[in-house]
Amino acid sequence: MDTTSYVLVCERDKTFTSLHRFDRKRNVFEGEYSLLHNAYSYDQYFLARFLMAHVEHPLRLLPSDNERYDEVVHTYQRFQEDDIPAYIEEKLQERAEREHRLDVERSLGQLQLIIARQMILKEREEVQNRPSRSERETLVLIGQDYAFLRSVHIIDDIVAQGRG
Ligand SMILES: [Zn+2]
Repeated sequence: MDTTSYVLVCERDKTFTSLHRFDRKRNVFEGEYSLLHNAYSYDQYFLARFLMAHVEHPLRLLPSDNERYDEVVHTYQRFQEDDIPAYIEEKLQERAEREHRLDVERSLGQLQLIIARQMILKEREEVQNRPSRSERETLVLIGQDYAFLRSVHIIDDIVAQGRG
């Protein structure tokens, strides 16, 4: 990530929106920042609103190494300043809820695998207890037993990966 931060400035209205650093991998700006949450919006919400509020106004993108950067940040109005903490709060909550939902889905998936494992073990037990009347039947039963055991090991690997 670059160390340069950016602000987009409307000189006519003496206002700016902070884009902060540009993430070249994802091609997005960090977006507005809430000191209260120590977090960025990580979307273009305020940038888009700023552009729409200043249609046909001359805008300038200032990097933090520009001599006017500090002056703008300290003397111009920060666009929708009062809305920033509430918006970022909402984004963080959405993110936490999404992560929680993924966790729940993951543990449900694990549970289904464990149930499948028990069913396979039960079938394997039946195969092991089935009497064989010929050498050929014995070979078939050994083959089935091996296949069941192999399935159980695969499930164990997947469950272990899910936990790791
Ligand atoms: Zn403007």
